[in-house]
Amino acid sequence: MTSAELRARFLKFFQDRGHSIVASSPLVPANDPTLLFTNAGMVQFKDVFLGREQRPYVRAATAQRCVRAGGKHNDLENVGYTARHHTFFEMLGNFSFGDYFKREAIGYAWEFLTEVLMLPPERLWVTVYAEDKEAERIWLDEVGVDPGRLTRIATSDNFWSMGDTGPCGPCSEIFYDHGPSIAGGPPGTPEEDGDRYVEIWNLVFMQYDRAADGTLTPLPKPSVDTGMGLERLAAVMQRVHSNYDIDLFRNLVKAAAELAGTADLAQSSLRVIADHIRSCAFLVTDGVLPSNEGRGYVLRRIIRRAIRHGYKLGIREPFFHKLVGPLCAEMGQAYPELVASRQRVEQVLHKEEERFAETLEQGMKILDVAMRDLPERVIPGETAFQLYDTYGFPVDLTADVAREHGLQVDMAGFELAMEAQRERARAASHFSVDYSQEVHLDVACEFTGYRNTVEDTRIVALLRDGQ
Ligand code: ATP
Ligand code: MG
Ligand code: MG
Ligand code: MG
Repeated sequence: MTSAELRARFLKFFQDRGHSIVASSPLVPANDPTLLFTNAGMVQFKDVFLGREQRPYVRAATAQRCVRAGGKHNDLENVGYTARHHTFFEMLGNFSFGDYFKREAIGYAWEFLTEVLMLPPERLWVTVYAEDKEAERIWLDEVGVDPGRLTRIATSDNFWSMGDTGPCGPCSEIFYDHGPSIAGGPPGTPEEDGDRYVEIWNLVFMQYDRAADGTLTPLPKPSVDTGMGLERLAAVMQRVHSNYDIDLFRNLVKAAAELAGTADLAQSSLRVIADHIRSCAFLVTDGVLPSNEGRGYVLRRIIRRAIRHGYKLGIREPFFHKLVGPLCAEMGQAYPELVASRQRVEQVLHKEEERFAETLEQGMKILDVAMRDLPERVIPGETAFQLYDTYGFPVDLTADVAREHGLQVDMAGFELAMEAQRERARAASHFSVDYSQEVHLDVACEFTGYRNTVEDTRIVALLRDGQ
């Protein structure tokens, strides 16, 4: 089953159960300046959950594009190291705004996985929040899950909250067991963090309103928010273990390999590049530009990280922007806005490649020398700062190189050097450092108007993909 087909099946399943299909919102949240990027399906519904906004529906389903890089959820460091994390991914979600609750949410999830997708129940593990006896009872008595594959989790991992105050409640997660040939233990065990048992779906039961003093008051109309990673589900359905081996990624990895002139498709740098082109292209599509501040700096960091992996593969010419075409071929049907902004995205990425090319090679030479003879196996903060300041190496890029050599970066030392630099800048000027232009650039480019213009065509395209 292709990713496009899976996406369509999911939406259709919930449409048939009374859900309105709502288009993905852009990666820059429309009305939440505290959030760097849209990192979950619920983001566009935040005000609906809070009761501040009314919509003409009480059930919705989406395929939401998400970025988890920088900010609270940051998976940038996982990319290239786990089989299941991306900076950009699609989250399939169904939502109830004060309509159905636990019984239906759990029932729908189980039905979709075991009756529509026909996944064998003995491959599925579920977790509940330890105090959530209601969810536990539904799973064991109504769904009939094997008690040996249900884990009660007492930590905050299974208790979700929107913020320090406001809606919150227990979660229940569904894991898929990829089999004993892969390292990792079942949820709730110390070995959990391997890639054998992969979390595929997270069901959040918004049940309480938390006050500033921590008191939990039951919500009059509890809600449901769920999220399932499309790429993880596709890996399960396509019987591959790594997300990077699914249809969506195979052609991207191949395109990157061609640019690098290599036939070894298993190299992790190719996966990193394939991952990063997705987040970078969609971030630019959604109005973010590379800069030295805020969202734009996260984008710059991802682009430069990708370029460095290209360098590692032996590429010495701008190449990253050439992957926008192959990406449009994979995702353009589901995301017409990507195709519409293709040229602009290519230009922005190309320009950033040229800019970084001026210092990358020299910086890499300095880093290579610095990495020799390090008795403590730690790259000094001063070196990381020099690479940042003079050669435009974001510190996570330096850390990425260091990690490949089994080394670390002295982050505290780096921060100290940064602070000293800021002091010097303050002392040298009556004015504080002026980043306003860069911030302005970011703000000026945050368009949020797609929803109204392409929503209908996109939903038609999403559903058609599966036929
Ligand atoms: P994990 O524990 O594996 O990091 P999570 O608990 O952080 O996942 P959630 O916040 O619950 O993930 O997001 C809902 C779903 O989105 C997950 O169950 C997973 O299928 C998917 N997902 C989360 N993060 C990523 C990612 N970085 N790349 C791909 N899919 C992801
Ligand atoms: Mg995570
Ligand atoms: Mg998790
Ligand atoms: Mg989770």
